[in-house]
Amino acid sequence: MFRERGIVIHAEDCINDYWADRLTGEGLHLNVLGVHPAGGHDAHQTMEQAIRMLSTPEWAKFASRMDKAGIAIEFEMHALSWMLEREKFDTHPHWFREDADGNRTAQFNCCASEPEVLEYIRERACALAKIFVPDTNKYYFWIDDVASAGCQCEKCRSLTPADQCMILTNAIAEGLEAGRSGAKQSYLAYCATLTPPKIAPRHNVFLEYAPIQRDHDRPLNAPDCPKNAGEIATLSELLAYFGKTDAKVLDYWMDNSLFSSWKRPPKEFHLREAVCRADAAMYRELGFDAVTSFGCFLGQDYAELYGDTPLAVYDGILYGE
Ligand SMILES: [Zn+2]
Repeated sequence: MFRERGIVIHAEDCINDYWADRLTGEGLHLNVLGVHPAGGHDAHQTMEQAIRMLSTPEWAKFASRMDKAGIAIEFEMHALSWMLEREKFDTHPHWFREDADGNRTAQFNCCASEPEVLEYIRERACALAKIFVPDTNKYYFWIDDVASAGCQCEKCRSLTPADQCMILTNAIAEGLEAGRSGAKQSYLAYCATLTPPKIAPRHNVFLEYAPIQRDHDRPLNAPDCPKNAGEIATLSELLAYFGKTDAKVLDYWMDNSLFSSWKRPPKEFHLREAVCRADAAMYRELGFDAVTSFGCFLGQDYAELYGDTPLAVYDGILYGE
């Protein structure tokens, strides 16, 4: 059994009763609900919508139902373009990323070596700490939703994408701690940031491992699957580097947005039960105690098309049944 057993759903799925009914009404054991404003190019806008949602009566009702059921709420999102508004490029181009051609660009992330922008990100993270307040004090404010987009300026050039991510993550973690005592921040290890950084994490940064480029039809440790071998190649090293305390898995077993290529209407979903079970056993063996999966595109609109989803099966695997 994992201590933290989660599911991550889109923010808009919190304002009708479907997910709340399912999570509280079926004798499930899930105890962490991640709210995820969708990523992509418009992540800063979906964040704004989620911020507005937090002040609605529908959200208050949802949060109260989770609280009564003993389900902790967390928030997971690509937050960098909200923290550092792209409009700042007009007045502060040196805060932004230099591309391979030597041009500053407002597209994706920012310069990781410019003290002014790191200070600005700290301030924004401090403010954000008080807006999306997780019940667990674990925050998940990720950099932009892109496989790899590092700064190529003279100072950043020698830094790997993982090191640039670590610098930005540390700035966010510092700002969060200033905004909320005991706040912790995730280092999202996926795509280019699967390679462990060389820069040390702050004391309040924990590992979040998200193998998005995996083969979803094969267990991660399948012996004859080069794709998955690549995804887990650095996992033990990452765990040793960041430590196992608070380390979290964010996998995709229930992510019907991924299986629908992030386009609505959702496709019919089938849980790869054997894969999920084998992966859970591997994660347990490695020492993870917190495991979640995206569960997007499985809300009310999905149920109207295809009926309910195998949430209880997924729940049972994380619970150790
Ligand atoms: Zn730079």
